[in-house]
Amino acid sequence: MIIDGKRFAARLRDSIATHVAQLRADHDLIPGLAVVLVGEDPASQIYIRNKGLQAREAGMNSFENRLPATASQTELLARIAELNRDLAVNGILVQLPLPKQIDSEAVVEAIAVSKDVDGFHPLNAGLLAVGGTGMVPCTPMGCLMLLKNQLGNLAGQRAVVLGRSNIVGKPLAALLLREHCTVTIAHSRTRDLVEECRRADILVAAVGRAQMVKGDWIKPGATVIDVGINRIPTPDGKGRLVGDVDFDSAVEVAGAITPVPGGVGPMTIACLLLNTLTAACRQHGITVPEVRPVT
Ligand code: NDP
Repeated sequence: MIIDGKRFAARLRDSIATHVAQLRADHDLIPGLAVVLVGEDPASQIYIRNKGLQAREAGMNSFENRLPATASQTELLARIAELNRDLAVNGILVQLPLPKQIDSEAVVEAIAVSKDVDGFHPLNAGLLAVGGTGMVPCTPMGCLMLLKNQLGNLAGQRAVVLGRSNIVGKPLAALLLREHCTVTIAHSRTRDLVEECRRADILVAAVGRAQMVKGDWIKPGATVIDVGINRIPTPDGKGRLVGDVDFDSAVEVAGAITPVPGGVGPMTIACLLLNTLTAACRQHGITVPEVRPVT
Protein backbone atom coordinates (compact mmCIF):
# COMPACT_ATOMS: atom_id res chain seq x y z
CA MET A 1 0.00 0.00 0.00
CA ILE A 2 1.24 3.45 -0.86
CA ILE A 3 0.67 6.08 1.82
CA ASP A 4 -0.72 9.17 0.12
CA GLY A 5 0.84 11.99 2.13
CA LYS A 6 -0.26 14.59 -0.39
CA ARG A 7 -3.92 13.73 0.08
CA PHE A 8 -3.63 13.39 3.85
CA ALA A 9 -1.91 16.79 4.05
CA ALA A 10 -4.63 18.40 1.92
CA ARG A 11 -7.31 17.01 4.26
CA LEU A 12 -5.36 18.25 7.26
CA ARG A 13 -5.02 21.74 5.74
CA ASP A 14 -8.79 21.79 5.10
CA SER A 15 -9.40 21.03 8.75
CA ILE A 16 -6.88 23.68 9.85
CA ALA A 17 -8.69 26.23 7.66
CA THR A 18 -11.98 25.41 9.38
CA HIS A 19 -10.40 25.92 12.82
CA VAL A 20 -8.76 29.16 11.69
CA ALA A 21 -12.15 30.48 10.53
CA GLN A 22 -13.64 29.47 13.89
CA LEU A 23 -10.86 31.26 15.77
CA ARG A 24 -11.53 34.37 13.75
CA ALA A 25 -15.27 34.19 14.39
CA ASP A 26 -15.02 33.40 18.11
CA HIS A 27 -11.98 35.44 19.14
CA ASP A 28 -11.33 37.87 16.29
CA LEU A 29 -7.90 36.29 16.02
CA ILE A 30 -6.06 35.52 12.77
CA PRO A 31 -2.94 33.38 13.21
CA GLY A 32 0.11 35.00 11.63
CA LEU A 33 3.17 33.21 10.26
CA ALA A 34 6.38 35.13 9.55
CA VAL A 35 8.91 33.47 7.27
CA VAL A 36 12.43 34.86 7.07
CA LEU A 37 14.71 34.20 4.11
CA VAL A 38 18.31 35.37 4.00
CA GLY A 39 19.77 35.32 0.48
CA GLU A 40 18.38 34.00 -2.77
CA ASP A 41 18.85 30.25 -2.68
CA PRO A 42 16.38 29.00 -5.36
CA ALA A 43 15.16 25.97 -3.38
CA SER A 44 14.64 28.10 -0.25
CA GLN A 45 12.68 30.66 -2.29
CA ILE A 46 10.33 27.93 -3.49
CA TYR A 47 9.93 26.60 0.06
CA ILE A 48 9.05 29.96 1.58
CA ARG A 49 6.73 30.84 -1.29
CA ASN A 50 4.82 27.58 -0.71
CA LYS A 51 4.70 28.11 3.04
CA GLY A 52 3.30 31.63 2.60
CA LEU A 53 0.80 30.49 -0.02
CA GLN A 54 -0.51 27.60 2.04
CA ALA A 55 -0.73 29.78 5.17
CA ARG A 56 -2.90 32.27 3.26
CA GLU A 57 -5.02 29.45 1.79
CA ALA A 58 -5.71 28.30 5.35
CA GLY A 59 -6.93 31.80 6.20
CA MET A 60 -3.82 32.88 8.11
CA ASN A 61 -1.75 35.99 7.69
CA SER A 62 1.64 35.45 6.13
CA PHE A 63 4.52 37.89 6.48
CA GLU A 64 7.52 37.43 4.22
CA ASN A 65 10.82 38.87 5.44
CA ARG A 66 13.68 38.90 2.97
CA LEU A 67 17.22 39.91 3.83
CA PRO A 68 20.13 40.07 1.37
CA ALA A 69 22.70 37.25 1.30
CA THR A 70 25.18 39.74 2.77
CA ALA A 71 23.02 40.46 5.85
CA SER A 72 24.94 40.32 9.12
CA GLN A 73 23.98 38.29 12.14
CA THR A 74 23.17 41.50 14.01
CA GLU A 75 20.72 42.54 11.28
CA LEU A 76 19.01 39.15 11.32
CA LEU A 77 18.80 39.08 15.12
CA ALA A 78 17.29 42.58 15.07
CA ARG A 79 14.62 41.41 12.61
CA ILE A 80 13.83 38.39 14.80
CA ALA A 81 13.55 40.64 17.87
CA GLU A 82 11.01 42.77 15.97
CA LEU A 83 9.00 39.69 15.00
CA ASN A 84 9.14 38.42 18.59
CA ARG A 85 7.52 41.69 19.70
CA ASP A 86 4.97 41.85 16.87
CA LEU A 87 1.57 40.75 18.24
CA ALA A 88 0.29 39.95 14.74
CA VAL A 89 3.01 37.31 14.40
CA ASN A 90 2.32 34.03 16.18
CA GLY A 91 4.89 31.86 14.45
CA ILE A 92 8.39 32.61 13.15
CA LEU A 93 10.26 30.42 10.73
CA VAL A 94 13.81 31.18 9.59
CA GLN A 95 14.53 29.26 6.41
CA LEU A 96 17.69 27.16 6.74
CA PRO A 97 20.46 26.90 5.67
CA LEU A 98 21.72 30.39 6.47
CA PRO A 99 24.73 32.07 4.82
CA LYS A 100 28.03 31.16 6.45
CA GLN A 101 28.59 34.51 8.23
CA ILE A 102 25.53 33.72 10.39
CA ASP A 103 25.51 31.38 13.38
CA SER A 104 22.33 29.31 12.87
CA GLU A 105 22.22 28.13 16.48
CA ALA A 106 22.23 31.69 17.80
CA VAL A 107 19.43 32.58 15.39
CA VAL A 108 17.26 29.63 16.40
CA GLU A 109 17.82 30.46 20.08
CA ALA A 110 16.78 34.08 19.46
CA ILE A 111 13.27 33.08 18.33
CA ALA A 112 10.70 33.37 21.15
CA VAL A 113 10.03 29.83 22.38
CA SER A 114 6.26 30.30 22.03
CA LYS A 115 6.67 31.42 18.39
CA ASP A 116 9.16 28.70 17.41
CA VAL A 117 6.85 26.88 14.97
CA ASP A 118 9.77 24.84 13.59
CA GLY A 119 10.31 23.41 17.08
CA PHE A 120 14.09 23.77 16.78
CA HIS A 121 14.67 25.95 19.87
CA PRO A 122 16.66 23.99 22.50
CA LEU A 123 13.90 24.56 25.03
CA ASN A 124 11.30 23.01 22.74
CA ALA A 125 13.71 20.14 21.95
CA GLY A 126 14.15 19.62 25.70
CA LEU A 127 10.41 19.70 26.34
CA LEU A 128 9.93 17.00 23.72
CA ALA A 129 12.67 14.89 25.30
CA VAL A 130 11.09 15.06 28.77
CA GLY A 131 7.52 14.60 27.50
CA GLY A 132 6.45 18.21 28.07
CA THR A 133 4.22 20.46 25.98
CA GLY A 134 6.28 22.47 23.54
CA MET A 135 6.43 22.99 19.80
CA VAL A 136 7.09 19.73 17.95
CA PRO A 137 9.23 19.87 14.78
CA CYS A 138 7.04 19.67 11.68
CA THR A 139 8.57 16.80 9.70
CA PRO A 140 8.63 14.33 12.62
CA MET A 141 5.08 15.39 13.53
CA GLY A 142 3.97 14.70 9.95
CA CYS A 143 5.67 11.26 9.97
CA LEU A 144 3.93 10.36 13.22
CA MET A 145 0.53 11.41 11.90
CA LEU A 146 0.97 9.23 8.81
CA LEU A 147 2.04 6.30 10.96
CA LYS A 148 -0.88 6.63 13.37
CA ASN A 149 -3.30 6.98 10.50
CA GLN A 150 -1.88 3.83 8.95
CA LEU A 151 -1.36 1.65 12.01
CA GLY A 152 -3.54 3.09 14.76
CA ASN A 153 -2.00 2.33 18.15
CA LEU A 154 1.81 2.16 17.82
CA ALA A 155 2.49 0.70 21.30
CA GLY A 156 5.00 -2.13 21.26
CA GLN A 157 6.04 -1.65 17.63
CA ARG A 158 9.74 -2.04 16.92
CA ALA A 159 10.74 1.26 15.25
CA VAL A 160 14.08 1.96 13.62
CA VAL A 161 14.88 5.58 12.81
CA LEU A 162 17.72 5.87 10.33
CA GLY A 163 19.39 9.26 10.96
CA ARG A 164 19.98 11.24 14.16
CA SER A 165 19.69 14.88 13.13
CA ASN A 166 18.18 17.42 15.51
CA ILE A 167 15.47 18.30 12.99
CA VAL A 168 14.27 14.82 12.00
CA GLY A 169 15.86 11.72 13.53
CA LYS A 170 16.11 12.66 17.22
CA PRO A 171 12.70 14.34 17.59
CA LEU A 172 10.99 11.54 15.67
CA ALA A 173 12.61 8.96 17.92
CA ALA A 174 11.31 10.91 20.94
CA LEU A 175 7.79 10.99 19.47
CA LEU A 176 7.82 7.26 18.75
CA LEU A 177 9.03 6.57 22.27
CA ARG A 178 6.15 8.67 23.56
CA GLU A 179 3.84 6.36 21.57
CA HIS A 180 5.42 3.39 23.40
CA CYS A 181 7.40 2.03 20.45
CA THR A 182 10.69 0.24 21.09
CA VAL A 183 12.98 2.68 19.33
CA THR A 184 16.40 2.19 17.78
CA ILE A 185 18.24 5.17 16.31
CA ALA A 186 20.72 4.14 13.61
CA HIS A 187 23.38 6.37 12.03
CA SER A 188 26.62 6.34 10.09
CA ARG A 189 28.50 4.50 12.86
CA THR A 190 25.86 1.80 13.38
CA ARG A 191 27.17 -1.73 13.05
CA ASP A 192 25.05 -4.22 11.08
CA LEU A 193 22.83 -1.45 9.75
CA VAL A 194 20.95 -3.77 7.40
CA GLU A 195 20.20 -6.23 10.21
CA GLU A 196 18.93 -3.38 12.40
CA CYS A 197 16.60 -2.26 9.62
CA ARG A 198 15.35 -5.80 8.98
CA ARG A 199 14.09 -6.00 12.56
CA ALA A 200 11.87 -2.94 12.19
CA ASP A 201 8.07 -3.02 12.13
CA ILE A 202 8.35 0.70 11.41
CA LEU A 203 11.35 1.90 9.40
CA VAL A 204 11.96 5.62 8.96
CA ALA A 205 14.73 6.72 6.62
CA ALA A 206 16.14 10.23 7.16
CA VAL A 207 19.72 10.03 5.98
CA GLY A 208 19.92 12.20 2.87
CA ARG A 209 21.38 9.35 0.76
CA ALA A 210 19.48 8.70 -2.45
CA GLN A 211 17.80 5.28 -2.57
CA MET A 212 20.09 3.84 0.11
CA VAL A 213 17.53 1.54 1.77
CA LYS A 214 16.89 -1.46 -0.49
CA GLY A 215 13.93 -3.83 -0.52
CA ASP A 216 15.97 -6.60 1.14
CA TRP A 217 16.65 -4.31 4.15
CA ILE A 218 12.95 -4.33 4.94
CA LYS A 219 10.99 -6.83 7.01
CA PRO A 220 8.05 -8.13 4.94
CA GLY A 221 4.93 -6.16 5.85
CA ALA A 222 6.80 -3.34 7.63
CA THR A 223 5.66 0.27 7.38
CA VAL A 224 8.28 2.45 5.69
CA ILE A 225 8.42 6.23 6.00
CA ASP A 226 10.83 7.87 3.59
CA VAL A 227 11.82 11.36 4.73
CA GLY A 228 14.66 11.84 2.23
CA ILE A 229 14.54 14.36 -0.58
CA ASN A 230 17.39 13.88 -3.03
CA ARG A 231 17.76 15.06 -6.60
CA ILE A 232 19.37 12.54 -8.92
CA PRO A 233 20.49 13.22 -12.49
CA THR A 234 18.32 12.21 -15.46
CA PRO A 235 19.26 12.05 -19.17
CA ASP A 236 17.25 15.23 -19.92
CA GLY A 237 19.40 17.13 -17.39
CA LYS A 238 16.43 18.21 -15.26
CA GLY A 239 17.00 15.68 -12.50
CA ARG A 240 14.41 13.79 -10.49
CA LEU A 241 13.48 13.72 -6.81
CA VAL A 242 13.94 10.45 -4.98
CA GLY A 243 13.89 9.46 -1.33
CA ASP A 244 16.37 7.65 0.88
CA VAL A 245 14.54 4.40 0.08
CA ASP A 246 14.82 2.52 -3.21
CA PHE A 247 11.08 2.71 -3.81
CA ASP A 248 10.81 0.11 -6.58
CA SER A 249 12.37 -2.70 -4.55
CA ALA A 250 10.91 -1.55 -1.21
CA VAL A 251 7.31 -1.41 -2.42
CA GLU A 252 7.48 -5.15 -3.18
CA VAL A 253 8.26 -5.99 0.46
CA ALA A 254 6.78 -3.25 2.66
CA GLY A 255 3.25 -3.43 4.00
CA ALA A 256 2.92 0.32 3.44
CA ILE A 257 5.34 2.95 2.18
CA THR A 258 5.43 6.70 1.55
CA PRO A 259 6.46 7.81 -1.95
CA VAL A 260 8.84 10.69 -2.76
CA PRO A 261 7.54 13.14 -3.75
CA GLY A 262 4.02 13.07 -2.30
CA GLY A 263 4.72 11.39 1.03
CA VAL A 264 6.27 13.18 3.99
CA GLY A 265 7.07 16.47 2.18
CA PRO A 266 3.49 17.85 2.01
CA MET A 267 2.94 16.87 5.65
CA THR A 268 5.80 19.11 6.76
CA ILE A 269 4.08 22.30 5.57
CA ALA A 270 0.67 21.17 6.87
CA CYS A 271 2.23 20.61 10.31
CA LEU A 272 3.85 24.05 10.15
CA LEU A 273 0.37 25.53 9.74
CA LEU A 274 -0.88 23.36 12.59
CA ASN A 275 1.94 24.64 14.82
CA THR A 276 1.08 28.23 13.89
CA LEU A 277 -2.55 27.65 14.87
CA THR A 278 -1.42 26.01 18.13
CA ALA A 279 0.98 28.89 18.87
CA ALA A 280 -1.73 31.51 18.26
CA CYS A 281 -4.13 29.72 20.63
CA ARG A 282 -1.53 29.24 23.37
CA GLN A 283 -0.39 32.85 23.17
CA HIS A 284 -3.97 33.99 23.75
CA GLY A 285 -4.89 31.43 26.43
CA ILE A 286 -7.35 29.72 24.07
CA THR A 287 -7.80 25.94 24.24
CA VAL A 288 -5.88 24.38 21.36
CA PRO A 289 -8.39 22.60 19.10
CA GLU A 290 -7.96 18.96 18.25
CA VAL A 291 -7.37 19.10 14.52
CA ARG A 292 -8.21 15.95 12.59
CA PRO A 293 -7.96 15.64 8.81
CA VAL A 294 -11.26 16.19 7.03
CA THR A 295 -12.62 12.78 5.99
P1 NDP B 1 21.33 15.30 8.19
O1 NDP B 1 22.38 15.30 7.13
O2 NDP B 1 21.32 16.36 9.22
O3 NDP B 1 21.43 13.90 8.97
C1 NDP B 1 21.60 12.70 8.28
C2 NDP B 1 21.69 11.55 9.25
O4 NDP B 1 21.85 10.36 8.50
C3 NDP B 1 22.88 11.65 10.20
O5 NDP B 1 22.49 11.27 11.50
C4 NDP B 1 23.87 10.64 9.63
O6 NDP B 1 24.64 9.95 10.60
C5 NDP B 1 22.96 9.63 8.97
N1 NDP B 1 23.64 9.00 7.85
C6 NDP B 1 24.20 9.61 6.78
N2 NDP B 1 24.74 8.67 5.96
C7 NDP B 1 24.50 7.48 6.52
C8 NDP B 1 24.81 6.15 6.16
N3 NDP B 1 25.47 5.86 5.02
N4 NDP B 1 24.42 5.15 6.96
C9 NDP B 1 23.76 5.42 8.11
N5 NDP B 1 23.43 6.66 8.51
C10 NDP B 1 23.80 7.67 7.73
O7 NDP B 1 19.96 15.18 7.43
P2 NDP B 1 18.47 15.63 7.85
O8 NDP B 1 18.01 14.83 9.02
O9 NDP B 1 18.37 17.09 7.91
O10 NDP B 1 17.67 15.18 6.56
C11 NDP B 1 17.62 13.83 6.13
C12 NDP B 1 16.91 13.75 4.80
O11 NDP B 1 15.58 14.19 4.98
C13 NDP B 1 17.48 14.64 3.70
O12 NDP B 1 17.31 13.97 2.47
C14 NDP B 1 16.61 15.87 3.72
O13 NDP B 1 16.55 16.52 2.49
C15 NDP B 1 15.29 15.26 4.08
N6 NDP B 1 14.35 16.17 4.75
C16 NDP B 1 13.07 16.16 4.30
C17 NDP B 1 12.12 16.95 4.89
C18 NDP B 1 10.73 16.85 4.39
O14 NDP B 1 9.94 17.76 4.60
N7 NDP B 1 10.34 15.74 3.76
C19 NDP B 1 12.45 17.86 5.97
C20 NDP B 1 13.81 17.74 6.45
C21 NDP B 1 14.72 16.92 5.83
P3 NDP B 1 25.76 10.69 11.52
O15 NDP B 1 24.99 11.46 12.52
O16 NDP B 1 26.50 9.55 12.10
O17 NDP B 1 26.56 11.55 10.57
